[in-house]
Amino acid sequence: MPHETVAVGDIEISALLDVDVNDEPIADAFPGAPADAILAGKARYPNVYGDDDTWRLRVRVWLIRHPGGLLLLDTGVGPETSPAMAWCPKPGVLPEALAEVGATPDDVEVVVISHTHDDHIGGALSRDGTPALPRARYILQRADRDWERDAADRSDEEGAVWKMLLAPLEDAGVLDVIDGDRRLTDRLTLRHAPGHTPGHQVLAVESRGRRALLSADTWNHPMQLAHPDWWAGSDDDHERSTATRRALLAELLTEPETIVAPTHLGEAFGHVSPDPDGLPAWHPAV
Ligand SMILES: [Zn+2]
Repeated sequence: MPHETVAVGDIEISALLDVDVNDEPIADAFPGAPADAILAGKARYPNVYGDDDTWRLRVRVWLIRHPGGLLLLDTGVGPETSPAMAWCPKPGVLPEALAEVGATPDDVEVVVISHTHDDHIGGALSRDGTPALPRARYILQRADRDWERDAADRSDEEGAVWKMLLAPLEDAGVLDVIDGDRRLTDRLTLRHAPGHTPGHQVLAVESRGRRALLSADTWNHPMQLAHPDWWAGSDDDHERSTATRRALLAELLTEPETIVAPTHLGEAFGHVSPDPDGLPAWHPAV
């Protein structure tokens, strides 16, 4: 069963596994780190290494069942028509994955886009170009919407995201653009966590004294917990992404029972606490 579910108070969080592929050489994916240190990290964290020391990339989509309904965080790489197919060897499985956990696209009322990279927003549209979650509002940060719109004339991945995904969503009238933190319900809060992209945001969940942090692409390699300054090649602003990693890490170390749910790490759910050497580390939930 590729999809895992945890309970946080009266909320259920399901991690839907969209794709699991070998991406670029892992040392190339994290140019902010010493290459030999990243390669040596395989001993501690073997699950993020693919064949021939590639980055083993999982892309997850998060379904949140809460008292107010169903919320989806991100949409995965998307169908064959998605711009992510320029680099991703296979399409995503969002509609099938929803069915496997007993939901349909019509059930989803809110879609939060953590950021506008095409492995997160690629599944926002169906093959026919209409919203894949047809009854939902799509929430994203204004900073990312504007960043992609400024790229509209380019022929690169961001230009494609605007033309093929964001502009159609805007034309369909389903985009809700927000500025900074936003309390969605008394249990669910979006927090602007910039750096990976200008509008990168994470979802904080709190219910009955339990907490979870859906951290999106704040940490894409678990060694970034001990080394927040080891920026990823996909980080747009290295200093800002480092500052965000430091700030969220400091919170997690004071709330070590928080369930952390990162989009791309080897495991969907875990905790952050120090290893015996004193350095913050990733401890998968089992
Ligand atoms: Zn990503």
